[in-house]
Amino acid sequence: MPPSVVDTSPSDWRYVSEGGATIVFSYNGPPNPNFNGTVLRLRKALVPALRTVTREGTVQTRANNEEPDDPTIEYQTKCMSRLIPPEHLPRLETVHLDEPWLERLVAQQNLRRPETRRETDGIDVDRQKGVLATDLVGGDWLAVEIKPKWGFVPSPKHLSAATKDAKTQTCRFCMHNHLRKSKGHIIEMSYCPLDLFSGDEARITKAIHGLWDAWTESGGSVNNLKIFANGKIVHPTEPHRMLARDAKPDTPIREIRDLFTSALLRILTATPVLRILSELQRSLDVLDIEGLSRLWRRTERTAPSYRTTFASFFEHTKGDGVEKPPSTPLGVSSLFLSEPQPDIEDWEEFLDTYLSPFRDGLDNSKPAPENLRYYLLAYLLSATFKDCSLIARLDFLKPGVEQEVKVGPQTVTVIDLDPKSMEKLREWEKLDKEIATFYSTNTEKKTCVDAFAS
Ligand SMILES: [Zn+2]
Repeated sequence: MPPSVVDTSPSDWRYVSEGGATIVFSYNGPPNPNFNGTVLRLRKALVPALRTVTREGTVQTRANNEEPDDPTIEYQTKCMSRLIPPEHLPRLETVHLDEPWLERLVAQQNLRRPETRRETDGIDVDRQKGVLATDLVGGDWLAVEIKPKWGFVPSPKHLSAATKDAKTQTCRFCMHNHLRKSKGHIIEMSYCPLDLFSGDEARITKAIHGLWDAWTESGGSVNNLKIFANGKIVHPTEPHRMLARDAKPDTPIREIRDLFTSALLRILTATPVLRILSELQRSLDVLDIEGLSRLWRRTERTAPSYRTTFASFFEHTKGDGVEKPPSTPLGVSSLFLSEPQPDIEDWEEFLDTYLSPFRDGLDNSKPAPENLRYYLLAYLLSATFKDCSLIARLDFLKPGVEQEVKVGPQTVTVIDLDPKSMEKLREWEKLDKEIATFYSTNTEKKTCVDAFAS
């Protein structure tokens, strides 16, 4: 029987933050084994004025059938736990909610939300279930959130002549950083994910320095590094909040940076998390988006329904062969692949295949059209691991003391493991082209070294 949040008082929960779809509260009430050290994640709904469809239908369905668990929980328990050891995943469980309780929560806490958010959406009070998760940042420790991004360089096999040189010399993150900097979106970062994923202490140190410097120079706005002390975000102007209580408050910032780096380095090298993430990204994205797109078009052209549907096209263009035959954009529902969007069962089936000897038998240098769906799902899953974050738990920093590193469950936890949608593929294909083409014109290309390139 899942615990019921309704047994707690809405005032026991403190507003933490929110994203586009969910809002998070942390438990701050009297000791309770079900809720100590947890956060409650609730789904949001548009404010009534902005809703375009009536909700009557959904309410009716819910009266007859039990509301399903939040998809995040299913995806984690049925899929992610087969790829990442559970001690490196947050604890997630379903909790029961009811409308009167949610209404009281809204009445007490809605004003703590940013005004711009309140105008658009709020807690979905019709929900009967929410997600209870480990509170990874809210305790008496330092929580360091890192978004490492892409940890490998693609094999040249499927790259076009236009992008091959750039994509095999410079990693995707560094190329993307160059593009975003040129558009004025972000500062130049020396951080390279391939250093962080290298397994080499000197290179990981360089990566942490790169993250720290970008964090400082951007005023904490880069999303690759966030630091929390006692549950509150640390701004780069207040690094002393990372120090232990008995540390000298005038400790120079340079020294705090060194203490932070060595503590984080020891934790990252003591857990297999980075190695697991890089191996997953690499083994799931074996064709690069360019190879995947080529396989997509080839599969479409060989599908029996394709030639029948476009027979007139082939009639008209007979002989000249200049015009390209029509094609469906990558990942879009089409005659040869209807309903491409995977559901939870598709993901489970995919993992059965991915984790079986089938994968070793694939000739990725010559991907076969009959395996298109395997490669599409693999690419989407790889994208989840390219976009996830990890949270490392550190003790407060003590100058002059070689701190003992205790690595236990939840010392390093992987978060933001949400399934990606097939609809994203065409955007990614376009972005990839833009990044690589723009970087090709750069006369001073950075050299990024993939320590595990085969
Ligand atoms: Zn790089």
